[in-house]
Amino acid sequence: MAAAARKREVGRGERTLPGVWRLRLPLPWPGIPHCNAWAVAAGDGIVLFDTGMHEAGSMAQLERALDMVGLRIEHVRLVVCTHAHIDHCGQAPAIVERAGCELWMHPNHAHLTRSLEDPGAALERRMEVARSAGVPEEPLRRWARERAGGSFGVSGDVRPDRDLVAGTAIETDLGSWEVVETPGHAPSHVCLWQPERRLLISGDHVLGRVSLFYDFGYTRDPAGQFLTSLDRVDELGARLCLPGHGRTFGDVAGHIAANREVVGARLAALETLLRADGPLTAFDAVPRLYDGDLTPMNTNWWLGETLCYLRHLEVAGRAQGDGASPERWSTTVV
Ligand SMILES: [Zn+2]
Ligand SMILES: [Zn+2]
Repeated sequence: MAAAARKREVGRGERTLPGVWRLRLPLPWPGIPHCNAWAVAAGDGIVLFDTGMHEAGSMAQLERALDMVGLRIEHVRLVVCTHAHIDHCGQAPAIVERAGCELWMHPNHAHLTRSLEDPGAALERRMEVARSAGVPEEPLRRWARERAGGSFGVSGDVRPDRDLVAGTAIETDLGSWEVVETPGHAPSHVCLWQPERRLLISGDHVLGRVSLFYDFGYTRDPAGQFLTSLDRVDELGARLCLPGHGRTFGDVAGHIAANREVVGARLAALETLLRADGPLTAFDAVPRLYDGDLTPMNTNWWLGETLCYLRHLEVAGRAQGDGASPERWSTTVV
């Protein structure tokens, strides 16, 4: 759908539980119309979990959502980000500045902060990954040209005041929230867990519908990390999930199982494809694994996912690349 034809969402706030508010904030991305920030009562103010991305007018959308539930930016006592993706932390610097509070986020945020420090080098690195995945030169150059001069979706320096790691406690009126490190979707991903009420703020680790994405190139096996992180969250026994996009949901175990199933099915489909038609590049594999039109956005997304599955199969001793550029992959299991 053309961007101009899309009806633009506005920020909305609603009470989810006593002392917990969902702030639904618009995003400019096709297929992902909004994200959630969660406000949780804490003394005379709130802790804000996630922030939405920064773009023209985004602070007004957050203020609109807060206003609908009788809150203001000045009530924010602490900003906690589930991970360093711009839809979850982009607006944090502006909020922190206005509210005079701290930002807490996991220290493995280089996947975002390194690209912000040197966007040119980051783009070059991504193009190199794409070339070695088999993306032809011309669409790649066009993609790079279209990205040039774009905004980065952050309102300033997103590096945290404090590292959000296991053992860190976040105090609210609903009790203390624990940090559960859940790398996979992003190296910096954490979930926040309130054990007495069995509430989980899940960021993008588990959503209401299965939507898989991994940051490729920062850790050895993101898909493997994601599966381990699913197990870790499964053990908590959450009763209600407050996700980074979409509505709250119960049956957290069922949603975790659905994620495992989809990852398992995609790994199996990739292995079957390599066995039948390998050696193949990741770019060759994408249209044969995914239904739907290849746009620059979903090609980018699916290519990253496929590279992560190839790496996961490699780590498991089930596939190997030829080490060339572009790299062609074969199965090692007959
Ligand atoms: Zn994310
Ligand atoms: Zn997200």
